[in-house]
Amino acid sequence: MDRYVDKQEHFEDFNNPCFVVCPKCSECAKVSIIPGEEKGWFAPRQLVCLKCTYRDTWADSSISRLWRREGKDDHFNLPLWIQASCGKNMLFAYNKEHLKFLESYVSANLRQRSRDKEYGWSNRSSASRLPEWVKSRKNRDRVLKTIKKLWLIAGNT
Ligand SMILES: [Zn+2]
Repeated sequence: MDRYVDKQEHFEDFNNPCFVVCPKCSECAKVSIIPGEEKGWFAPRQLVCLKCTYRDTWADSSISRLWRREGKDDHFNLPLWIQASCGKNMLFAYNKEHLKFLESYVSANLRQRSRDKEYGWSNRSSASRLPEWVKSRKNRDRVLKTIKKLWLIAGNT
């Protein structure tokens, strides 16, 4: 029997906070769950620019996921701050935690199919949402190189 359960909780952690391009000044803005609100994908968010005075809030009931959005965030639909081209694709991350996940996933590609005794399939939940070109072993070196670039971009977030 397959005990695989798609819990999603890891992925939710990844998008809070998330860093986007400020629509007013094009600098880095932070999107995070409004303090005091319950966590979760649909939790109300606030956008606060780290450079100018721009602020916004989000409270809605429909969102779509990262890789379907071409590098935009899930709530405000703004370009993610941490992104870079990787061949003919774009690679992006919500924040450093997400980047760390990407990096360990891609560099540990071989472990992908073995079930971790302690964590079960929990990591697969987030991994299953990655596009094929990220998971493909033949792109591994290129993706890791791009991840290095992303770390520089993520630098002061
Ligand atoms: Zn701004």
